[in-house]
Formats: sequence, C-alpha cells, structure tokens
Amino acid sequence: MTEPPTITWHTHEPLAPFTSWRIGGPARRFTVVHEPTTLQLAIAQADALGLRWFVLGGGSNLLVPDHGWDGAVIRYRDRHCDIEPYGDTGLARIGAGAPMAGTARRLARLGWAGLEWAEGLPGTIGGAVYGNAGCYGGDIAGTLEYATVLVGAGTERWGVERLAYGYRTSVLKRHAGDAPRPVIINAAVRLQRGDPLELAARMELTASLRRSRTPWGASCGSVFKNPPGESAGRLIEAVGLKGARSGQAMIAPLHANYIINLGQASSDDVLRLIDQARERVLSHCGITLELEVQLL
Ligand SMILES: Cc1cc2nc3c(=O)[nH]c(=O)nc-3n(C[C@H](O)[C@H](O)[C@H](O)COP(=O)(O)OP(=O)(O)OC[C@H]3O[C@@H](n4cnc5c(N)ncnc54)[C@H](O)[C@@H]3O)c2cc1C
Repeated sequence: MTEPPTITWHTHEPLAPFTSWRIGGPARRFTVVHEPTTLQLAIAQADALGLRWFVLGGGSNLLVPDHGWDGAVIRYRDRHCDIEPYGDTGLARIGAGAPMAGTARRLARLGWAGLEWAEGLPGTIGGAVYGNAGCYGGDIAGTLEYATVLVGAGTERWGVERLAYGYRTSVLKRHAGDAPRPVIINAAVRLQRGDPLELAARMELTASLRRSRTPWGASCGSVFKNPPGESAGRLIEAVGLKGARSGQAMIAPLHANYIINLGQASSDDVLRLIDQARERVLSHCGITLELEVQLL
C-alpha cells in the first residue's frame, strides 16, 4: 500500500537563497513539492489555513521584499521530461519545475531541436510559460503546443491562444481578482529532429553571446521590458544612470537594464533604482518604462 502524500512546511524560511537576486525576507510557510499531487495538497492546506499562496519556480524573475511574505510559498520542482516521437517531429511533455536551459541542452543532446534558443536562460519551464520568456530568436509562444494548468481542483489544457501571449506576458501574468490563480503543471513543447553536434555548436554560440552581454553578479536579468522600438537599457544609459548606486544595488555598467546586488542589497535599494530609472526616463524621454520583473 502506498503512503498518502504529506507536505513538510517550514516556517519563516528566508527566500533570498531561492532568488537569483539573493534578496528577500522570510515566507511565513514554505515547502518544496515535486509532482502535481503534492502541489495540489500544498495548495489545499494553504487554503485551509487561510493563507495566500504563491508558486515559486527558479526565482529568476522576482523581487521579494526584505520583510518577506506573509503567506505560503510553494516551490515546484517537477523535472520530468517525456518525449513522444512522430517521425521527424516530436512532443516533449516537461514538468513545470524543470530547468529551462538544462532541459534545452538535454533535448539537444538527444537530437531534438525546439528549445535550443533557451541556452543559458535561467529559471524553470513554469516560469517561462508564465511570462513568455524568450531570447536569441525564440520564445515560449512560438514553441509551446499547450500547457497543463491546475485551476481550482481540476486540470485543463491551455493552448497558446488561451494563454494570450504578448511580449513577456500572458493571461496568467495578467491574472487579477479573486478567481483561483492557475498553476502550470507541465508544458508540451514541439520538437524537430536535429543533429546533436550542430545543435551543440549553435547553443555554444548563444552561450558565448550571453556571457559577453550579461553583467557579472546577482540580478534578475532585464528589470524593464523594452518599450516598442526602443531598448530599456539604452534609455537608462542615455539618462546617465549607468553605474548609479543605491546602497548595495547598482545599475550595471555593462547593461543598464540590469540591477546588480553587490552583496547585501535590500529590496528597497533595488526599488529606489527602479523608481529613479523610471522617473528619469519619463522626464527626459517621455517614455514610461514597464517592469518585466515580478514584485512579490
Ligand atoms: C541573468 C539572467 C538573464 C535572464 N535572461 C532572460 C532572457 O534572456 N529572456 C527572458 O525572457 N528572461 C530572462 N531572464 C528572466 C527569467 O530567467 C525568466 O523570466 C524566467 O522565465 C523566470 O522563470 P522562474 O522559474 O525563475 O520564475 P520565478 O522567478 O520563480 O517566478 C516568476 C513568476 O512566474 C510564476 N511561476 C513560476 N512557476 C510557475 C508555475 N508552475 N505556475 C504558475 N506560475 C508560475 C511565479 O509565480 C512568478 O509570478 C533572465 C534572468 C536572469 C537572472
């Protein structure tokens, strides 16, 4: 007989180690779950305790306040990956907690193209589906067949139309109101057969481009979305903020759309730089910068 699943909750767990910015205070409750049944159970338990809950992926697109979060954080780590081949094409069903770049490399080694654009992209499949992550000629909207989504007590298949993707956004990211927050359980991604050596060479090129363009240090990647026809980094540079500091946070000299944690940055240090960049770009250029990063 199999044991019923149980959830181990930690109290006052600091969230900084679970974010790429290495910033953030404690969650009132925190757990890590590895498959859909325990995910559902954790959500049900948080609901029963009257706690608001939040599903965390790789924490690479998130600013957590220093005072933490008065709710339950559920870190989802389902990393399974099954491939259904159909001749020269295939469909990979990938757990939402699988690492985006690691999965792309694994598929390429097996001779499957489709996710190679995601070489070096931090975070999980779930986070990427949520925010329509993209880079180096690809994005989730162009790759996804459907996502399996937990809505309340049931699961549904959402195709790309239902996910209503835009530039670094989706219907999930725009979700507001009291309706149950949908959670991505897995993603089905279209694949084509490819030569592993050729895919590896393409991915190495992407990796070296990434290395040359990514500032060193803890960050969340791009803080702001690029306004239409513009680059947020160029605008912030043009208003003289490259290298600007607030406490232990700094606008990266290499790429002004990155804010680096120099070691002990607080969420307020980061927020002050965000406000400064927004105000200066608006007053000098008449352009309102929109956040790409999520504020918890
Ligand atoms: C150095 C660096 C470079 C980056 N470069 C790029 C880039 O080139 N292109 C790009 O698009 N992004 C880039 N990013 C940003 C980040 O990698 C992506 O946004 C990534 O997709 C976030 O995934 P995550 O798992 O870390 O999400 P998290 O930060 O954990 O969460 C972000 C949001 O997704 C939600 N979420 C996560 N998992 C689920 C789930 N299973 N169900 C429902 N909601 C979920 C969370 O609730 C949260 O609202 C970069 C970040 C860094 C640090």
